[in-house]
Parts: sequence; C-alpha cells; structure tokens
Amino acid sequence: MKYVDEYRNSKVAAALAKRIGEVASRPWVLMEICGGQTHSIVRYGIDRILPREVELVHGPGCPVCVTPLETIDRAHAIAREPDVIFTSFGDMLRVPGSATDLLQLRSRGADVRIVYAPTDAVAIARENPDKRVVFFGIGFETTAPANALAVSQARRLGVANFSMLVSHVRVPPAIDAILDARDNRVQGFLGPGHVCAVVGTEEYEELTARHHVPIVIAGFEPIDLLEGILMTVQQLEEGRAETENQYKRTVKREGNAGARRLVDEVFEVSDRKWRGIGLIPRSGLRLREEYRAHDAEALFDVQAITTAESTACISGLVLRGLKKPSDCPAFGKTCRPEQPLGATMVSAEGACAAYWQYGRRPDLEVAPGGEHA
Ligand code: SF4
Repeated sequence: MKYVDEYRNSKVAAALAKRIGEVASRPWVLMEICGGQTHSIVRYGIDRILPREVELVHGPGCPVCVTPLETIDRAHAIAREPDVIFTSFGDMLRVPGSATDLLQLRSRGADVRIVYAPTDAVAIARENPDKRVVFFGIGFETTAPANALAVSQARRLGVANFSMLVSHVRVPPAIDAILDARDNRVQGFLGPGHVCAVVGTEEYEELTARHHVPIVIAGFEPIDLLEGILMTVQQLEEGRAETENQYKRTVKREGNAGARRLVDEVFEVSDRKWRGIGLIPRSGLRLREEYRAHDAEALFDVQAITTAESTACISGLVLRGLKKPSDCPAFGKTCRPEQPLGATMVSAEGACAAYWQYGRRPDLEVAPGGEHA
C-alpha cells in the first residue's frame, strides 16, 4: 500500500536504528509530542531497537488525556439537562468524569449522540429547534478548523440553539513549559506532524531559536519516527538546533492557510488548564466575543464544578517526560483502562494506555531467564 508499507519496512527500520547507534556518541533524551506517535513507538517497539544512548520519553499530546476532569464533569452536567442533546465523538463516551461517563448517562435517559463531524451537530440543532444542542469540542490545533467551521456555520445560518463546550489546547506553549521547567530532561523533540499540517512550522522555529533545542516535525509510521530520531540525534551531535521537517509529504512551512484563517476568525488564544500539568499561559483557544452566543460555558451554569485528582497518579510527570508509565506504582494494579486513576490511562491514546495495550505490563514482562516477572 503506497504511503504505508514503505514506512513499515523492517529492514529499513533496522538500518535506521543501526545508523542512529553509529551517530549517537553519548546519552540523549528525546520527547515525542503526539499520543499517536507514542502509540506507534510502543506498538512497534521502536524504543527497544534504539541504542541505549537514546532515550524516548512521552509528551503531552493526547487531547482526551489533557482535557481537565472538571471540563468532563461540566459536559456531564450539561448532558443531564432535560432539554439538551449532547453530541460528541465516540471516544469521549467512555471517558470517566468524577462520577460517571456519557455512555452511562445515555443509558439513564440522557440524549447523548455520537457525531462524525462537528457540523453534524449543527444539522441536529436545525432539525430540533426546541432542544439545546451542544457539541464537546476538544483537541489540539488539528481539530480546531472543523470545530471553527461548525460555530461559523451556526452563526451564519442563525442556528441559535447550537453551542460548543470548548477545551482546545495548543502545543507550542506546552513545549515552552516543559523546557522552562527546572527539572526538564528533554534535549530534542519529535514535533507533531498532524498539528503542523494545519499550523505550519513557524511557531516551532521560534521555540527552537528561543531554547536552542532541535525539533524535527515527524510522521507517525515507524520509518517516519526513526528518521525523525536520526535527524534529531544528528543535530544534537553536531551542536545544531533547528526546526527540520521529516514529514514533508504532509507538512508545509506555512501550514494550511484556509484552516488557519478560519480558526483565527472564530477562536482567540487563552490561558488553559491541562489535566495532569496545570495552567499553561496562552496554551488554549476560546470562542471570540462575537461567537459567545454559541459558547456552552456561558449558556449553562457549570462554572462552579471543581474536582480532586487521585494523589497516587503521576501522570503529570509522565506528560512532562520525567517518568514512564511503568515507573508508576499504580500501573496495572489499582490503575487500568477500565478503572483509570489519571489522565494518561483515561484515553486509549494516552501513554499509560499504550503501555497497557501493547504488553508493557508487569504481569507480561519477560525476565532475562525467560520467566514472566
Ligand atoms: S498508571 Fe494510572 S495512576 Fe499511574 S501515571 Fe498512569 S494514569 Fe496515573
């Protein structure tokens, strides 16, 4: 299959891993940003074929993981309202809040519907003028254009009963926060390919210049990731710090101009809390004043909701690359996908969920003598 098989070729992967070993002369810590990249790395065992000099740590790039618990609780409070149709992508239905999830609310009579595009929710609102239709708009820069389109369309068509619960986050301020932290270990980044396909690479060039850290925008297949690791290690070994683009088949420097314009028209930059990490200045998007009539947080009385996270969970350290899921004492014991304690096990895209799904579990790890640990 074109654009897939050639990026999963095991001989090419082995040659790249060997080349990385030849180039790396001392220890380097690299972070991949996207949850999709984390899943590829764990699924294909990329971290296990690298030379021991190169350590991969996992970044904060899972949108479901970093959606604050109180925002999920707000979604549930809105979905419980009698005249509401609450719409969401399917992956949000099982994400637990403090007390329940959307699937359980639906089984108890709430009108919760899965949609495949945010504009589907606008269509539902037009078909149900006596209901308030809310779409749960979460994600990184990748999903912002489709969400902006839905809000813009609702305003243009006068669909007053459509609103969006917005929890959008932006990647560059999170990289800034990771690099600014006193305990930071990350020396180079695999940048988020899908995000940069929308926003381009200019903000990453600014980060590279400000922090003197290499960022290689990478794709999601094993060969993409190994090429990105090689490019990053080459920069580090040569003392260079540049933004390079491994994912040229998808990412252009200027990004997608039409999508950027649409996002700028509907959203403005705001401070945003990240689950497991906390408030990061200028790391979110909120609806602009002229679109506030479609802002679910302004229309529903849900601001007072507060929550307390598990004190056993170290997902904040996992999301900042300071710990691995397997370092967590709760991993696989009191914390599992069906009963997650924290952000990175909540979503199937999270780092802890990836370790669980692909067998990096204490009960499955094989000890040197061939015995299960
Ligand atoms: S295994 Fe569970 S408790 Fe531990 S860091 Fe991951 S989500 Fe948190």
